[in-house]
Amino acid sequence: MNFLSLIESKREGKILAPEQIQEFIREFTAGKIPDYQMAAMLMAIYFRGLNTAETTALTLAMRDSGDVLKFPNDKRPLVDKHSTGGIGDKVSLPLAPLLACLGFRVPMISGRGLGITGGTLDKLDSIPGFKTLLPAEKIIAQVQKVGCVICGQTDKMVPADKKIYALRDASGTVPSIPLIVASILSKKLAENLDALILDVKFGCAAFMQTKSAARKLAKTMVALGTECGTNTRAILTDMNTPLGRAAGNWLEVKESVAALDRRTVVAPVSDFKKSETGAMPVLQDLRELVLDCAAHLLVQTGKSKSLAAARKLAEACLNSGEPRKKWDEMIAAQGADLKAFNQKLALDSTAKVVVEVKSEKSGYVSKCDAKIIGEVIRDLGGGRLTKDSQINFDVGIDQMATPGERVEKYGTLCRVHAAGSAQAKAAIVRLKTAFEISAKRPAKTPLVIEVIR
Ligand code: URA
Repeated sequence: MNFLSLIESKREGKILAPEQIQEFIREFTAGKIPDYQMAAMLMAIYFRGLNTAETTALTLAMRDSGDVLKFPNDKRPLVDKHSTGGIGDKVSLPLAPLLACLGFRVPMISGRGLGITGGTLDKLDSIPGFKTLLPAEKIIAQVQKVGCVICGQTDKMVPADKKIYALRDASGTVPSIPLIVASILSKKLAENLDALILDVKFGCAAFMQTKSAARKLAKTMVALGTECGTNTRAILTDMNTPLGRAAGNWLEVKESVAALDRRTVVAPVSDFKKSETGAMPVLQDLRELVLDCAAHLLVQTGKSKSLAAARKLAEACLNSGEPRKKWDEMIAAQGADLKAFNQKLALDSTAKVVVEVKSEKSGYVSKCDAKIIGEVIRDLGGGRLTKDSQINFDVGIDQMATPGERVEKYGTLCRVHAAGSAQAKAAIVRLKTAFEISAKRPAKTPLVIEVIR
């Protein structure tokens, strides 16, 4: 194969044959194509795009660059959910044990933070003893026994994506629809799923800034996933505002556990104190999205006849308290020290400094800018500025007021958890610009705006 001529073809907008794509993915994975040439190809794809056949060929070639998980026959369907990434998006954490309790098997292979968006594995790394890197045999055994696992891809799964992703990150070619589709679906198809729900985010803190770009990405992934034999659906969700009341690795684990707690109350920010039951109040949007994803999967796999019936079933399961127990079973199976975990959960903060950000006037929150919040958390040390940055799991933001809620003058807009006073002070100045307060209550905007089947 002459890879240079393939780069030139794509540069000129020509169509590549599936065999050519398969071959260059094979060669690149084997280390036979240098990074600089692959980066040039990625840039050509970024500008020229790939048609449906090319995107399918790329996705399947990447999936087949490594091992595909093979599960024993079992009446429990294999399902998963993937989000394109956001701020405070912790849905995967409560969703996996909920799905296991609903009679699914959930091999949730997740990733680390990208840009300002948080990563499920980084969040889980804040749990004492928890292991995110498991061999394929252990992933399969845990899924069969516990019903769910949340871990990273093994070295042998989709190695092409690992290498290509690192190059995209360093060559400015991340926001390309065919490259995103191939990256996400190659990993999900390697899980051998019966059904997949995709949470495609749009808004200021999402990869896809506009609804139309998110819709295009969602439609492409649904069509390709379905064509490859996995029942795939997507929901388009708003990522202009963070999800839930907490963002930052450990704080999100805490909020996820609260969302699983049957004693949890859904409370306004002004009541944000530990409730009398001992459970933390959480925001309704998190539970809603968890239940929505579960409901779609129940319908996709034929376990429920309608979305309404599926929602009821998922809600009853969540309220039973069983998913909270399943969470403990899952993290213990992955090495977590439950005693240390529960001690950590009981702490108000694990960061050195906690400071409240106060509102300068009374009114209704009309904006809580997820992009600013994400950037502040990254700069507090909660995300990566370079590939090798060390993450501080304890920093972040919680008790966030959200659009539509009333705050009084000097009332809490959010709290900052920081590694020191100087970092907290710098964060407060920027966080004040994230919130807008107006005299009139803003119209409520829906979280899920569309379902793509
Ligand atoms: N998540 C992925 O795994 N890959 C992308 O390209 C974007 C989001």
